[in-house]
Amino acid sequence: MIRRSILWLSEQRRIFRFLRSNTIARRFARRFVAGETVADATAAAQALAGQGIAATLDLLGESVQDAAASVGARDQVAQVIEQMAQDGLAVNVSVKPTQMGLSLDPDLCRQNFTVLLKRVQELDGFLRLDMEGSAYTQTTLDLFEQHLHPTFGDHVGVVIQSALRRSPDDIERLIKRRARVRLVKGAYLEPDDIAFPDKADVDRTFQQLMERLLSEGNDPAIATHDETLLKRAQSTVARDERSNDRFEFQMLYGVRRDLQSRLRASGYRVRVYIPFGTQWYPYLMRRLAERPANIAFILGNMIREGI
Ligand SMILES: Cc1cc2nc3c(=O)[nH]c(=O)nc-3n(C[C@H](O)[C@H](O)[C@H](O)COP(=O)(O)OP(=O)(O)OC[C@H]3O[C@@H](n4cnc5c(N)ncnc54)[C@H](O)[C@@H]3O)c2cc1C
Repeated sequence: MIRRSILWLSEQRRIFRFLRSNTIARRFARRFVAGETVADATAAAQALAGQGIAATLDLLGESVQDAAASVGARDQVAQVIEQMAQDGLAVNVSVKPTQMGLSLDPDLCRQNFTVLLKRVQELDGFLRLDMEGSAYTQTTLDLFEQHLHPTFGDHVGVVIQSALRRSPDDIERLIKRRARVRLVKGAYLEPDDIAFPDKADVDRTFQQLMERLLSEGNDPAIATHDETLLKRAQSTVARDERSNDRFEFQMLYGVRRDLQSRLRASGYRVRVYIPFGTQWYPYLMRRLAERPANIAFILGNMIREGI
């Protein structure tokens, strides 16, 4: 109930307009968002690099309203790519298809991604298409499987959500085409006929798909903070004597930093997803929906730090 309410709030643009100008709300966001500028994001990535942890940068924003806005967002992502290269960071970005215009025109979206991927390929980097709500699953997979993956191969990857009933079939197809997949549970509010309403089913499916990816996948990313699943992944790779450089763990900026460092210290590859930019409201609300206790946690920190 709380999760549903917070996710509903995440879609209310009027609330964001109010919060964006509110200093306390902006401080609140800093727990999960690196800042509003590219420099904030690359500084966070450099700090993680110092601990041996890799990064993927996400310029926040989704569902642009017109073609010009999608091209504007594309140019901003292009700047992020250039900045990472200039700063000596391995180029790695995560991009939402609706930010590149998917909900307006799939051809426009493909053109925007093609421009970005040409540069990513020149720089020997990587671009991941984030996965959004189920209204975009099929169009995102079509874009990836029919256009971007055939052209850019291992420079581009996609995301599969274990919450969706369709995901076991999607995973098998993606394994066959040697695509690079990030596995997540799924952060969006979905109807029961499309997604499992029961969290136990989401977790069970995550484990099943994770094991398929760890044994047959191409450089899979296991993206979770769930300790039971992370332990399971570690025992699977130990049992199969799979080398640590053939998969990676991924976590979100500001979430379970202790676990990020522990996994890295144990010799695993770890990548942190670093969101930044002015459009932080829907992202922040999805993080709060995952763990409503975060609201109390962040407020407590702000009071301790004297707001
Ligand atoms: C690198 C990365 C990329 C992602 N990309 C996408 C994407 O493209 N599309 C998409 O739909 N979703 C994406 N997600 C979000 C994902 O779907 C989940 O919503 C999110 O990861 C929480 O699920 P969990 O696997 O950590 O498990 P949960 O069962 O939700 O949490 C397990 C434990 O992790 C900790 N935890 C989890 N979330 C939080 C939090 N917000 N604050 C504090 N502690 C927390 C808690 O200790 C919790 O008990 C991504 C997640 C990661 C890590």
